[in-house]
Amino acid sequence: MKYLGDYHTHTVYSHGKGTVDMNVRRAAEIGLEEVAITDHGYRHTTYNVRRTDYKYMRRDVTDANAHYPVKVYLGLETNLHGRYGEIDVTEADIEDLDILLCGYHKLVYSPTVKEFFSFYVPTFFAPMFGTSDRRRAINTEAYIKAIEKHPIDVITHLEYTIDVDVAAVAQAAKEYGTFIELNGKKVSMTDEQVAAVVGTGVGIILNSDAHSPGRVGDFSVPQAVVDRLKIPPEQIVNLDKLPDFRLQKLKGGRK
Ligand SMILES: [Zn+2]
Ligand SMILES: [Zn+2]
Repeated sequence: MKYLGDYHTHTVYSHGKGTVDMNVRRAAEIGLEEVAITDHGYRHTTYNVRRTDYKYMRRDVTDANAHYPVKVYLGLETNLHGRYGEIDVTEADIEDLDILLCGYHKLVYSPTVKEFFSFYVPTFFAPMFGTSDRRRAINTEAYIKAIEKHPIDVITHLEYTIDVDVAAVAQAAKEYGTFIELNGKKVSMTDEQVAAVVGTGVGIILNSDAHSPGRVGDFSVPQAVVDRLKIPPEQIVNLDKLPDFRLQKLKGGRK
């Protein structure tokens, strides 16, 4: 069995170490059929892609598509930054993306002052002062609203520094055709949480989250979870097959 694509990699356009070309070359070397360049969304305070750079990213991806026998997607790992499912791209931005990832990260500008106090601050400090059922419900609702409102292909590193009802998020993801990632750096969910996610029947995707070219396609960390929990191979959308991405389907299907 073989993973055919890695859909979450970073480059120098945010805080990765390699260029687009280096990530794609690595993907070609290890025999991947597809790879995605997904740097951090525009409203991260320190790791964001600069809007003015997006056209250069597109140029690099077009070049790489022409030079390597790998299909290259250009996307963003957008930030979930509001309790009503706000993410840090506009509808027009999404039209220019090939793939849309979404995750929760700290140090992201809030869409409004109200959101800063009602989502950013309590979520930021929850790991230090403990969470609550109410906080967890708000976070869960934020993810579900994001999945409902935006054509998100992949929820990255669920439960990483944020407390959510992962099964409820996974259930919404399944309904809308969004995949839940097992992240290549760290699986933040407990085994019980992963089992609950898998139990919903949602599509599972393994991604490297590589921040250096040498890590593209490295799924060893999440693979240990897959093996331990005996996740059915047919439920893993990039194992021996290519995923049917929500955004691509909206745009008329895989070319
Ligand atoms: Zn991330
Ligand atoms: Zn990432």
